[in-house]
Amino acid sequence: MQKGKIGVTSDNLFPIIKKFLYSDHDIFLREIISNAVDATQKLRTLASKGDYSGDISNAKVSVKIDKEAKTITVSDNGIGMTAEEVEKYINQIAFSGAEEFLEKYKNDANAIIGHFGLGFYSSFMVSSQVEIFSKSYREGATAIRWECDGSPEYMLEESDKTTVGTDIVMHINADSEEFLEKERVEGILNKYCKFLPVPVVFGKKTSWKDGKEVDTDEDNQINDVAPAWTKKPVDLDDEAYNKFYHQLYPMAEDPLFNIHLNVDYPFNLTGILYFPRLKNTMEVQKNKIQLYSNQVFVTDSVEGIVPEFLTLLHGVIDSPDIPLNVSRSYLQSDSNVKKISSHITKKVADRLSQLFVEKREDFEAKWDDLRLFIEYGMLTEDKFYDKAEKFFLFKNTDGKYFTMDEYETLIKPEQTDKDNSLIYLYTNDMEHQFSFVQAAKNKGYDVLLMNNVLATPLINKLEQKYTNKRFVRVDSDVVEHLIAKEDPKHELSWEEKNELSPIFKAVCPETKDFGFIVDFKDLGETGNPMVITRNEFMRRMKDMSQMQGGAMSFYGDMPENMNLVVNTSHPLVKQIFVDRDATLGSELDRVKTELHVKESEKAEVELAKKDKKDEEIPSEVKEKSEEIEKAITALQNERKEKLTAFGKENKLAKQLVDLALLANGMLKGADLDKFVKRSFEMIK
Ligand code: ADP
Repeated sequence: MQKGKIGVTSDNLFPIIKKFLYSDHDIFLREIISNAVDATQKLRTLASKGDYSGDISNAKVSVKIDKEAKTITVSDNGIGMTAEEVEKYINQIAFSGAEEFLEKYKNDANAIIGHFGLGFYSSFMVSSQVEIFSKSYREGATAIRWECDGSPEYMLEESDKTTVGTDIVMHINADSEEFLEKERVEGILNKYCKFLPVPVVFGKKTSWKDGKEVDTDEDNQINDVAPAWTKKPVDLDDEAYNKFYHQLYPMAEDPLFNIHLNVDYPFNLTGILYFPRLKNTMEVQKNKIQLYSNQVFVTDSVEGIVPEFLTLLHGVIDSPDIPLNVSRSYLQSDSNVKKISSHITKKVADRLSQLFVEKREDFEAKWDDLRLFIEYGMLTEDKFYDKAEKFFLFKNTDGKYFTMDEYETLIKPEQTDKDNSLIYLYTNDMEHQFSFVQAAKNKGYDVLLMNNVLATPLINKLEQKYTNKRFVRVDSDVVEHLIAKEDPKHELSWEEKNELSPIFKAVCPETKDFGFIVDFKDLGETGNPMVITRNEFMRRMKDMSQMQGGAMSFYGDMPENMNLVVNTSHPLVKQIFVDRDATLGSELDRVKTELHVKESEKAEVELAKKDKKDEEIPSEVKEKSEEIEKAITALQNERKEKLTAFGKENKLAKQLVDLALLANGMLKGADLDKFVKRSFEMIK
């Protein structure tokens, strides 16, 4: 028997292991089983080279719990270890600079274990004592027993183990007895060992007999030793891919399609990524991509390893080249990881592009489920954008799909404005904006349906990229003005507008959320008498602020202004003008004349004040000037009051505004009720 001290440069390793590795305790089992799997695979390799002649057909790793003895035993029939190998691989641990490193990564057991090659020693996180029984595959090797109780002292002696392989017996400490529970261990095995390349057996399969659960003869094998991603794509059909998907996520809906990754240069990476049905939501994806290293599960948080938008995908990535046992911040700066990330991005884009080219119809059918993912990628990864430009699809209000190029060709003739900008018309709500969509279509325009969550940022992005393209929502102006083809026709003068707008302002609803600006346009006799539009810029700012908050919330808080556009050519509007003249004509004329008089007086006074400093102006001129200002304001107010009073009483004006509100889905509650009653009266 040999006794000795474990060769660590730090005084005492175990308190440190226990102190710092308080999270992720369950990875000890992954580490011990991984070692067992490695040992098994090494023996296979030796056998295949003819360096070992024993039987390897029954190779497996078995995990047993003994509740009474309070032990977990992991047994393998791999290469085993000689006393010298134990001395070399187990007893000597490089452990310099430990304190500093541990302090930095105290919450990251993965990083610590990886950094110090502590795989085996992680067993001390849960054990008060660990024994190794091992017999090397080498001819005539003596079996050994090693034991250590968590102090740096170990004991090494001969043992009577007769079979080649290793048993690791962990005596579970009082704080860790949860790991003696079958369900707990099964949970850990299912998490980390589901796809290990060597069978991992945990007890026997059970069945129900006479109301009791009893063991059968069959091994309870935890893992699938050859998961789909380790196979060649030619050996897998859609069904096999879907089957594997459900192995990963038993509750999930079938995916749309997959990408089989297989790279061996300049790094090793295999895996299968699936496109889930995303619908129109950005809800947190529960089924995350799982990351493996040589079939050992490492983590399901792949942030930093794949670009953000790809985290919406499902599936597995397996790469021994991702430095797994390191901290996240280190990961993101690792050059291999960067290469892997851009490689995956490229693969995903290529696959989408291939699907689009080869099966466009199918691609279109899946578009609604895909678009969120693609748009997210376009918004966040320029490299992806460059590829996606070719397969991104616009969907119009007739349900037809167009690539960017196709759509440009389609709308160019009709939707180029006087400044040579291409105007993309869109709606985000077919029902609410129905009459606007219809009006645009009647005019020969095409209207896109952009109603998904990322529509607004995407539109901004497209406009940034192509300065000669603009997106205009159909309800942002009257159809005649959506696409300015020529300089505007003669419009009402300021003065004329002043004589009209109070009438209509008087019949606009008053709310705290939005105000109305009344404007007048000649929309032709067949145009609607009144239309309510919303300024594109303001509205989009509001949309963005709802998504982002922060600095943008300034726009979110601002009341919105709607434009009430009054069609000066419409007979019903003209009727209101006639009514106004009949009711107020003479009074308005008087006010108008007086205003003119005052305004010419004002002009005279201004002339007298011109180029003079304030102190040079005689006081009587100043007084006069003030008097005139007052008179003008009074006259303007008088006119406004008269017009407002007239408007309030004018049923036709009220009716027309309500109709415009109704067309925008903005007439509700008591106002709607009044409208209906008024309509009956007017029909009578
Ligand atoms: P790592 O696996 O990172 O090298 P470990 O501390 O987990 O570090 O293991 C140290 C070494 O001990 C392994 O490299 C291997 O040579 C040996 N070893 C551990 N477990 C076994 C086992 N079950 N069978 C054979 N050798 C083993």
